[in-house]
Amino acid sequence: MNVRLPVRDVAAGLALAILFMTSALAQQAGAPPAAAPAGAELRAARDLFEANLDAIRRRDRDAYLATYLDSEQLARTGPEGPSLGFASHAELSGDDSWPDVFEALDLRLVPVRPGVVYGTYRYRVRYGADEQSGLSERIFLLTGEGWRIAVTSAFNSPPGTPPPPRALVGATLIDGNGAAPLPQAVIILRNGVIDCAGSRDHCPVPNGIAISDLAGHWVVPGLVDAHVHFSQTGWADGRPDALDLRERFPYHEVQAGLRAHPERWFRSYLCSGVTSVFDVGGYPWTLELRERAERDTMAPRVAASGPLLSTLDFWLNLPAERQFIHLSDETAARHGAGYLHSHGAAAVKIWVIPPADDEFDRAASLVMSAGAESERLGLPLLVHATGLREAKTALRAGAHLLVHSVWDRPVDDEFIALARRAGAIYCPTLTVADGYLRMAVSAASGEAPRIDDPNGCVDAELLRRIALTPALGSGLVDSATVAQQTTRTAARRRTMADNLARLHAAGIPIAMGTDAGNPLTLHGPSVHAEMEAMQDAGMAPLQVLFAATRNGALAMGRDDIGMIAAGRAADLLIVAADPAQTVENLRRIRYVVRGGVMRGIDELRAPSH
Ligand SMILES: [Zn+2]
Repeated sequence: MNVRLPVRDVAAGLALAILFMTSALAQQAGAPPAAAPAGAELRAARDLFEANLDAIRRRDRDAYLATYLDSEQLARTGPEGPSLGFASHAELSGDDSWPDVFEALDLRLVPVRPGVVYGTYRYRVRYGADEQSGLSERIFLLTGEGWRIAVTSAFNSPPGTPPPPRALVGATLIDGNGAAPLPQAVIILRNGVIDCAGSRDHCPVPNGIAISDLAGHWVVPGLVDAHVHFSQTGWADGRPDALDLRERFPYHEVQAGLRAHPERWFRSYLCSGVTSVFDVGGYPWTLELRERAERDTMAPRVAASGPLLSTLDFWLNLPAERQFIHLSDETAARHGAGYLHSHGAAAVKIWVIPPADDEFDRAASLVMSAGAESERLGLPLLVHATGLREAKTALRAGAHLLVHSVWDRPVDDEFIALARRAGAIYCPTLTVADGYLRMAVSAASGEAPRIDDPNGCVDAELLRRIALTPALGSGLVDSATVAQQTTRTAARRRTMADNLARLHAAGIPIAMGTDAGNPLTLHGPSVHAEMEAMQDAGMAPLQVLFAATRNGALAMGRDDIGMIAAGRAADLLIVAADPAQTVENLRRIRYVVRGGVMRGIDELRAPSH
């Protein structure tokens, strides 16, 4: 995708040159049969157009070449300029040149003059992991041997070009805004947003639009994971504070890899139905992801809060970059929030590690200062606080989002009142500790950890690393520690489930978040276990879905995603079973739509699968 030229001007220039060429070709090709009415000519050209595209779909080289003018003046043009001749076109159309995915939408034809028709379509092709989309032209010419393509072109679209319109017809619509599921729904997508969603009467399908028959499917808003970290890998190499493998996997190299290739996680999120994520803490480069991802339909939309303000001067930083800004005093609180504001952070995140009792008041006062400064700057405050006392402080400081459960004791009336007053969203993040536990058990026992990846979204590189876990050896993790960790994790899970049920019943908004990037909490597929844990804690399936869509959008501060309604972004998840019955059915992903581009699950899987 290196075409950032004014493509339209180039294309218009070419089209003029091409029309000039075709008039010369028409004369050479001999007198055409007597001119037919324009409608008949358009139909004939369209038939040839469709035969040409169908031959690409079927990978039928003979049928494909038969649609072209067998002449030295057959022109094939692209960003690098035209090349001429049927022979070179035939040579380039070899058996290995067919795309793995070929989508041709929005066919348009216009008669130029008797015997000449101009046509375009919008393509999306995929060669392995490389996807390209753009506009392709044809000039159809009536020759003594019938209609032939005299000119063919393809120009990739600049990033952010809206995809062609599409109608999704026949699925059951769950809009994410509390309306009852609507069977036999129609959803019209146009310019990357939802143009209409409702019954067939409410949303008539316009003529000429691509129609996807989704009978037997359910359409829900794309999922939002409101708690992720692009600065972490999903394994121990990104968290040397949990399991120190830096001798073998130097932390600076791991971080350089994460920074260079966030698209690994972009794909695994989409593959898991996640079309938006909130990165709530990481290195400064994570602040650049929002812009990079927003117009890329192969990426989830990203909000990022950047480096964390921490009550603890935590050591896990790079030699030349910090992800933890120490809240050492009032000035540090002010400057930390100011740094995040000036660097485009979506929020200020504070990491509150329970301090010693005699340090608590001082830590609480710094959290209040950071909260006041965030409010002054207009940035929402996000807080990691797992103890009831710390979480109450966070709410007093004005927290917009608590990214973890309270796990040390039951929440009380005071907590609920503070949460209401702050208008806070509670993200329970129930399952992240299980990943740490599975990693420790695997290292201690020598058995491979279970990987929960129902759609094959995790890439081969990460799977190779995870496969090393059993060989790490009990020297790193002893069984007594694992036993303790098992007991502690189970106790916290019970407290977290009870607290979630209580807060949900009290009407505190709940958002779904996984803490993906932590060991064995994998970017993308970890949403399934998290949503199921929320359901197990007593939330109804549609309430979990609400937390994983609309409330996630609220947590990210966005009102253009998280629901299926006219004007919202066309980010959708299409599954083959009813998620209103159980959220387990959200594992049965068939298609994911991001920014109006619909891809089958086979396109989104990791290449090795
Ligand atoms: Zn986290």
